[in-house]
Amino acid sequence: MRFLFVLLLFSNLKAFTQNKIVELSINILPELKEDFAGKEIYLSGVGELKLDTSLKYPYFLRIVCNKNQDVQFEAMANIEFEKLGTFKHFNNFISTISTDSVVKLNMTFPFNCSYNRNLKQKICPVCKKDDKVIPILYGLMEFDANGNSLFKDYGEFKPGGCNVSECDPTWYCKRDDCRF
Ligand SMILES: [Zn+2]
Repeated sequence: MRFLFVLLLFSNLKAFTQNKIVELSINILPELKEDFAGKEIYLSGVGELKLDTSLKYPYFLRIVCNKNQDVQFEAMANIEFEKLGTFKHFNNFISTISTDSVVKLNMTFPFNCSYNRNLKQKICPVCKKDDKVIPILYGLMEFDANGNSLFKDYGEFKPGGCNVSECDPTWYCKRDDCRF
């Protein structure tokens, strides 16, 4: 009898837990739209969300969660810019605390900043040339068994370190010691 009471109480509590629907749209930064065509964006949920998925164009996700739950997303993508001879890792965050039953979130991806907007302009802002400009590559400078850098396919580059933010420079001019 006591077991039954506990069971009833539990099912009643559950009925009072309200849900909200979160709709996330990811809008690609116009300057990089063609580079993201057909590419996947990896999305993870921070906190209680436990989301772990890849989104394809159109980048849209609909999830149901507890009404008072803080919702946070982290979006990530690695894009190779073959013509420019570099690749870049992008990430961006969006979060909301809302009690509304339907929450619409819009994320601009990659993060809207001048480094990302002007990524394909390889011209140094100081000397106005590109002959001494090399890519900045971020991440661990790991080496394989033969002592070759895992980034060896990219030719000459400037190591950017392991700490990446939503907005990092893409190019380095050796003549002017300038990152842009
Ligand atoms: Zn320069």
